[in-house]
Amino acid sequence: MADDAISHLASLTAQRDRELLDVSLAQGVLELLGAVSVGVYRLVGPEEEARHWLCSGLARRGQLTVSDPVWADMDALPSEDHFPLRQQALGNRAIAQTELPGSACPEAEGRFVCVLPLLVEIGSPGVLEVRSERTLTPAALRPIQTLLRVFANFQSLLESSQRDALTGLLNRQTFDATFLRASMPSERGGLPVEPERRVGGTTGYWLGVIDIDHFKKVNDGYGHLIGDEVLVLLARIMRQTFRHSDRLYRFGGEEFVVLLRGGTEADAFGAFERFRELVEGYAFPQVGRVTVSIGFTEVQLQDTPNAAFSRADQSVYLAKHQGRNRVVGFESLVRSGLLTDNGQHIGDVELF
Ligand code: GH3
Ligand code: MG
Ligand code: MG
Repeated sequence: MADDAISHLASLTAQRDRELLDVSLAQGVLELLGAVSVGVYRLVGPEEEARHWLCSGLARRGQLTVSDPVWADMDALPSEDHFPLRQQALGNRAIAQTELPGSACPEAEGRFVCVLPLLVEIGSPGVLEVRSERTLTPAALRPIQTLLRVFANFQSLLESSQRDALTGLLNRQTFDATFLRASMPSERGGLPVEPERRVGGTTGYWLGVIDIDHFKKVNDGYGHLIGDEVLVLLARIMRQTFRHSDRLYRFGGEEFVVLLRGGTEADAFGAFERFRELVEGYAFPQVGRVTVSIGFTEVQLQDTPNAAFSRADQSVYLAKHQGRNRVVGFESLVRSGLLTDNGQHIGDVELF
C-alpha cells in the first residue's frame, strides 16, 4: 500500500496541467482503494450565487477516466444543495459517509459513499467522493488523507505559480499552454470543438486584449498604489462579467487578456461590450471613471499565441485611434478594409 501510494504521488506531482490533476487524483485513489468509482467534484460559479458541482475527474472500475468539460453549461450542472453529503464534508472539513439503501442502489454500484473534502487554499473548493461495496475503515482511509494533503499543497503551489500576485488572474506564462490547446483541439488533452466549426478552420475561441485608457494619468495623478487598486478592481469586474469557463489573464502592466470559448463574432463582441460598459459605469475609489479599449479576434486552427495576440493588439491600437473606450474586432476591420487579413493596414490610419 505504501509503495503504491508513493508511486501515485510521483505521477500526480509530475502533472502540470491543472485540469488533468483531478483526473489523475481520481484514477490514483480508485486503484489504491479498489473502489467502484471515485469522483472529484468542484464547486463552480460566482460565490454570491448558487454554485454548481462540476465533475473534474471520474474514475470507474474498468472504464476510462473522464471529466465534465470545463465549459459545461452551468445550468446543466447539478446545484450545490443537490448533494448534502458533499456540502457536509466541505462545511465540516471532515470525512462524511453514508450507506445507500439497497433499493436505491445495487451493491455492485457501490452502496457505501464516502466524501473527503479537498482542503485547497487557492482554486475552487472541492471534494473526493468514493463509492465502494464495503464501508471504508479508518485504516484504509488514512493513506488517502495523506495523499490529499500532499495534493492540496501541490495544487496550491501549481496555482500560485500560474497566477499574477496582484490580481490573482492567470499570468502570461500560462497563456501559451492554454492557447495551444484552444488552437489544436485534436491534440491529446485538447478541447473538442463542434465539427461544423472545424471545417471553417476556426476553433470557436475568441481572444480579447483589454488595455486601460490613459492609465499613466491615473498613476501620475493619484500615485501607484491607487493605480494598483484600479487593476485589482478591474480584475474583479472581469471575474464577474465573464463565464467560469473563460480564461482571464493579466499580461503585465495594465494589459489584460481573455480567452473566450464559444459563440459567434456577435456573441464575443457582446461579451466584451458588456464588460466595457460595466467598467465605464463603475465608480473607482478616488479616481472615479476609468475606461478600457478592447481588441478581439477569432482563434484559428494552428494559430500561434503570438499571431493571435498580435491581431487582437492591432485592434486595440485602432480602438485607441478611434477615440478609446470601445470594442473593435479584427475581423470587422478586415471586412471594412482598414486592415488586410495579415494585418497590414490599407486605410488612411497611421499604424505603428
Ligand atoms: P493609452 O490610453 O494609450 O493606453 O494610455 P496609457 O497611459 O494607458 O498607456 P501607456 O502604455 O503609455 O501607459 C501605461 C502605464 O501603465 C505606464 C505605467 O505608469 C502604468 N503601469 C504599468 N504597470 C503598472 C503596475 O503594475 N501598476 C501601476 N500602478 N501602474 C502600472
Ligand atoms: Mg498599455
Ligand atoms: Mg493603456
